[in-house]
Amino acid sequence: MPAVGFPMADFATSRRMMTALAEGPFTQLEGEPLTTSLSVPWERLLPGPVGSRFSTDVGGPGRPRARPLVLDTEFESVSYDDVGCPSGLEDLLGDRRFLAQHAYAIAASTLDLFESTMGRRLGWKARGHRLALKLYEPIPFDETGYDGQRCEIRFGHRKDPRARRHVPLALYRDLITHEVTHAIIDGYRPHLADPDGTLDEHAIHEAVADVVAMLSVFSSTERVAEQLNAAQATAEEESPTTPWCRPACSESPTACSHVRHFAVR
Ligand SMILES: [Zn+2]
Repeated sequence: MPAVGFPMADFATSRRMMTALAEGPFTQLEGEPLTTSLSVPWERLLPGPVGSRFSTDVGGPGRPRARPLVLDTEFESVSYDDVGCPSGLEDLLGDRRFLAQHAYAIAASTLDLFESTMGRRLGWKARGHRLALKLYEPIPFDETGYDGQRCEIRFGHRKDPRARRHVPLALYRDLITHEVTHAIIDGYRPHLADPDGTLDEHAIHEAVADVVAMLSVFSSTERVAEQLNAAQATAEEESPTTPWCRPACSESPTACSHVRHFAVR
């Protein structure tokens, strides 16, 4: 029984909000990484973090063996200490705690999306309870990917001219979603990724993983708002005197009371 006064039914149905990057470390708003808040099913997280469906290993530079990280503040408790994203890029790239929170939240929300849509639990191909997320592996970055036999996803890291530290590929939301989607499809329809499978079957795997990954980024209202603001700024730069609702309206955007003008002010 849990130590605090929560009925078990509440444990089974409750959710928690977790902060994650909306897209990746270089997508910023006013000089800070753009974040979003993801709703994931509540579960007790052991140090790792390790939940019922995912285990997470967070290595790092100079750390050949990952040290388990704690996300839940107290064992046998519902207390979860969601941390905000570090505001500086270098701090973000070196923050293993936030990397673990971000990766777990995206993986758990992706699995939850499939399971809630299909109305049932979806297993992994290797029949293990957990899919291992290895978030900072000493591998060439282009070997990042899902391994169905080992029931794991390994994420590499790479140098980027925009940062001093190496960039963990697990900081990219679409990459985590893409690889977790591979694992979900592989558990649901193992023959699609069979070595003897047809090109069409392999293509379906990639296509579904790509579409889910792309839409995951645009499921974030923060990212969509940022894109709309950027599009508005570009439009105003290219044609600063053209009202957006022409030809119906000849007012300038600042003088017009039409809803569409309000929306882009
Ligand atoms: Zn793929």
